[in-house]
Amino acid sequence: MEFWFTEDQSKDLRIGCRILETIHSETTPFQKLAVINTAQFGRMLVLDNVIQTTVKDEFVYHEMIAHVALNTHPNPKKVLIIGGGDGGVVREVVKHTGVEKVVHVEIDGRVIEVSKKYLPEISCALDNPRVEVIIDDGIKHVQEYKDTYDVIIIDSTDPVGPAVGLFSAEFYRSVSEALTQDGLFVAQTESPFYNEELITRIQKDVADIFPVTSLYLACVPTYPGGLWSFTIGSKIYDPQKADTTRFSELATRYYSPVVHKASFVLPPFVQNLLK
Ligand code: SAM
Repeated sequence: MEFWFTEDQSKDLRIGCRILETIHSETTPFQKLAVINTAQFGRMLVLDNVIQTTVKDEFVYHEMIAHVALNTHPNPKKVLIIGGGDGGVVREVVKHTGVEKVVHVEIDGRVIEVSKKYLPEISCALDNPRVEVIIDDGIKHVQEYKDTYDVIIIDSTDPVGPAVGLFSAEFYRSVSEALTQDGLFVAQTESPFYNEELITRIQKDVADIFPVTSLYLACVPTYPGGLWSFTIGSKIYDPQKADTTRFSELATRYYSPVVHKASFVLPPFVQNLLK
């Protein structure tokens, strides 16, 4: 007998993975949380029946959300990560030896605990001494800090439940205030195939607040449409003009200086979303 996990990736599309084993399943105060072992992607973290990350393709998303922003800033020392309870972004951020402090604010402590237990290759840097983990709402956290962070990385779930506010103009304004005078932020901004209106709205909101606003893309097989968008809002530094000769040398499998530049080359249908 075969067992399949299915996710509704849009209201008219389902993706399925054959399950080898359900490793863990619980309902936390915030969401349904599961770790399953799939035949195609290996161990997979699932929240509210939506794929978050898998051991097979996680490197693309985690490298691309972390290194584009960190290499755009010439000297990031203090970094805030919101969401990202699996620890994949933390693992990438600590590769930057110049980063002195990483504050990781995740609303659901159970995602962190379960990831530490069942996804060690992703969560392996959560106990790094430069990392402070805070269990709290990221929206509240940014409201409490001014002129503090060089880079803020928003690794949120889709815009439902506790993550809705992480996609709002009001939140981007608080992010701007929490950043230092030359700071920048990056957020995952969903699929250009299925979230066109969201991407257009976010671009406008961010451009109203930040002098530099850019969208870039990466290929993530397990996310809806396989092509994923990220938005950068920056006070000074332009990620497209970043000087690749001073980029940190990083052990990566998807990100590279050339991929950094290439990821901002948008196909016309995505370019049209920014008008
Ligand atoms: N990369 C993944 C994706 O796009 O599918 C997201 C991974 S990560 C597991 C997302 C995390 O954001 C979840 O663990 C969730 O608990 C957390 N989260 C959602 N809303 C939040 C909020 N308001 N503050 C802090 N963390 C939040």
